[in-house]
Amino acid sequence: MNTPVQYLKGVGPQKAALLAKLNITTVGQLLEHYPRRYEDRSQLKQIIEVADGQVETFCAVVISVEEVKPRRGLVITKVRVSDQSGDAELVWFNQPYFKKMYKAGMKLIISGKVERRFRQIQVMTPEVEPISQTDTLHTGRIVPVYPSSENINQQFLRSLIKQALDGKAQLIENLPTDVIDRHQLLDRMSAIENIHFPDNMTILSAARKRLVFEELYYLQSGLLFLKKKHQHNGIGIKHGPDGNLLFQAEKNLPFSLTADQKQTLREIKNDMEDTIPMQRLLQGDVGSGKTVVAALALVKTVENGYQGAMMVPTEILAEQHFHTLSRMLAPLGIRIVLLTGSLTKRIRKEVLERLNTGLVDIIIGTHALIQEDVAFQHLGLVITDEQHRFGVNQRALLQAKGNMPDVLVMTATPIPRTMALTVYGDLDVSSIRQMPPGRKPIKTYVASTDMQERIYNFVLREVQAGRQAYIVCPLVEESVKLEAQSATQLYEQLRQTIFRTVACGLVHGKLKPQEKDQVMQAFHQSDIKVLIATTVIEVGVNVPNATVMVIEGADRFGLAQLHQLRGRIGRGQHQSYCILLSDSKNPDTKERLEIMTQTSDGFVLAEKDLLLRGPGQFFGIRQHGLPDLKIADIVRDIEILLEARKAALQSVSIPEHITLLRPGLTAKFGEQFRLMFCN
Ligand code: ADP
Ligand code: MG
Repeated sequence: MNTPVQYLKGVGPQKAALLAKLNITTVGQLLEHYPRRYEDRSQLKQIIEVADGQVETFCAVVISVEEVKPRRGLVITKVRVSDQSGDAELVWFNQPYFKKMYKAGMKLIISGKVERRFRQIQVMTPEVEPISQTDTLHTGRIVPVYPSSENINQQFLRSLIKQALDGKAQLIENLPTDVIDRHQLLDRMSAIENIHFPDNMTILSAARKRLVFEELYYLQSGLLFLKKKHQHNGIGIKHGPDGNLLFQAEKNLPFSLTADQKQTLREIKNDMEDTIPMQRLLQGDVGSGKTVVAALALVKTVENGYQGAMMVPTEILAEQHFHTLSRMLAPLGIRIVLLTGSLTKRIRKEVLERLNTGLVDIIIGTHALIQEDVAFQHLGLVITDEQHRFGVNQRALLQAKGNMPDVLVMTATPIPRTMALTVYGDLDVSSIRQMPPGRKPIKTYVASTDMQERIYNFVLREVQAGRQAYIVCPLVEESVKLEAQSATQLYEQLRQTIFRTVACGLVHGKLKPQEKDQVMQAFHQSDIKVLIATTVIEVGVNVPNATVMVIEGADRFGLAQLHQLRGRIGRGQHQSYCILLSDSKNPDTKERLEIMTQTSDGFVLAEKDLLLRGPGQFFGIRQHGLPDLKIADIVRDIEILLEARKAALQSVSIPEHITLLRPGLTAKFGEQFRLMFCN
């Protein structure tokens, strides 16, 4: 399996380089280069039966070969063939070597798209094989179609994979026998053979199921190992039952908790009261009230004599949380401090000293929290907010500042259940789905750019009425620079025309963090009324006075992302409006944007987004660290995912299974996993 592909016949240095571009350097990778789709060329037709516009397969004899050169640079090769029922013409462009390949009298099996004009039947650039070949590869069967590139064509890939399979590449079974039996899976060798060259659809589906299962089973086992590892790595902190401080904190809240808040808080408290360290994800839309739940969890750790830490991705958020929590908890005598990169040396030193000597109960901060010289006296609970902005390593670094503290990860990007299992398989998940009562639903509209003038005038009227607005520029994928440029352009244009009399501001990804913070601060204090922005405002300030969100080129965004953006408004007592600008005529796109006007449930939108655009496009997926799946589709394969997870849950406590899984897990999860796994 680890043999370089160069050792196969037909692969020289040049082809090897091209294959490498498809991520194929070993025979193993070649065999795991799964087909993108299949074409059923097993049904042989007679020439008289072939239908216009269809891909058909038939057998015929060569009658004549002809080459024409209608103009410079164009060579057309025509091969005339016939069977008892009729004639057809095979046509290729600029492939002069075909002329030499076919001779009158040769028997061929032909597959390609048919064009019937008048009485003529033509097949453009068909795939052809001599019929004498006993086991046909490209025709007369269910034929695999691979992800390929310009210089690596289908026939080449098929032949190469066939060669590797015939050479009996050593395929070692990598699933435990009892798992195979229980889930009625194909063995690995048959699965690989049949995923490439299936004899029929039934065996193909069995092959696919086996390989999807294998992939998800390994993924789940890996994630569950991490979880188990963490749980057994020592004994965590056993928090006591709720006491007076927590009672007071809950009583002091100006509102009563929603049912979802109560439920998630219960789950968190239960984890904290257990000796196994908590590893929990708390997900809920922006504004669903996660902060209160987090605050009460922090009170619980303080009440038990421990310190709590909360890490957030930006200084603005840190300050915001600091103020919210101070207001809520300082009256109870809880000592809260803020740690960000912009503290003076002297103050920073003082904060760290108080933290280290236990004079601080709760610390809130940015990445500044994971610097080496930050030390706690007894850290009991670690909370990270907006987890998708932090890597797993950063989470681990903060955790390591305590001795097995409880860990709570919060995210405002609702993740469908299937994806949560895949991405956060090592965490338990709590969800807040219902919003606090009394919120005015945001009115959402889809409009085309010929309405732009009217929309800007509406923004102007809102500003004159004392409100604030966001205008979000179109997404420029992969280029922060271009995106910044287009935002700057729009900003210049607007403040010189329609918003001449209004204080406008600009934020984009090319600004220094400090500059960005300054602008956001000004918007927060209402010194800026209209903020022109790129998606950097996704994780941003809470400005309840902002009531309008105009999103330009809305069709370029995913639903989940639009939802995140929309979450910036509708936070105050005034009616809020979200306007999605798009000139797309594509019915699918229009339908997608329409969904935004129909629901404000982030979970529903996330599910829809995932279904519509697939996991690869799902918002922020890279930050979520969704692993590369070769064959499984976490939307389509949910049933298999659940089966695989069940199997994995058992396997992580079976020593023989662990031994079997180890090499594969190390290969799939890499060095990081090996380290966590081995020590
Ligand atoms: P999140 O952190 O999930 O974005 P927050 O915790 O900031 O949401 O809550 C958003 C707003 O809703 C805050 O102003 C908060 O005080 C308020 N809030 C939270 N829970 C409730 C509740 N149960 N009833 C009424 N208001 C609530
Ligand atoms: Mg605990």
